[in-house]
Amino acid sequence: MTGKTPYLSLLLTLCAFSAWSQDAQVKITSADNQRAVYGAPENFTGQVQVTPLFPAGPDINASGGYVTFAPGARSAWHTHPAGQRLIVTAGVGLTQEEGQPVQVIRVGDVVSCPPGVKHWHGAAPDSAMTHLAITGAVDGKNVQWMEKVTDEQYAAR
Ligand code: MN
Repeated sequence: MTGKTPYLSLLLTLCAFSAWSQDAQVKITSADNQRAVYGAPENFTGQVQVTPLFPAGPDINASGGYVTFAPGARSAWHTHPAGQRLIVTAGVGLTQEEGQPVQVIRVGDVVSCPPGVKHWHGAAPDSAMTHLAITGAVDGKNVQWMEKVTDEQYAAR
């Protein structure tokens, strides 16, 4: 190996990086184009609005979106094949892992749901709640929906 080899190597690396960066561009999806849709009634109780922000991709295999629950509204029981992170951005909510107590979640709280763990999340009875949901995907699938959370389960705390 000669003394010039490291410099040649660096040059080649910079060229490769330059070629890569021409393919990958920073992209902004304008907030003006974000559209809320109602949560499917078979998967939620009460009024829920979902605003998709980004889909899962080859670089980051997780989707992101805001979910806003009216007071008393909540998801059905469900699992995520690759897990989920929830960041509460407004209001007060509730969440529960099956077999565990219902817990209160507030603005700034981060909820980590491991893969395959059955749970639900929603608003408190007397407050709306919005969370950012980052949900991992396996083969394009990010949730397995189950039965609804009953009023009795929701009120048990
Ligand atoms: Mn979830």
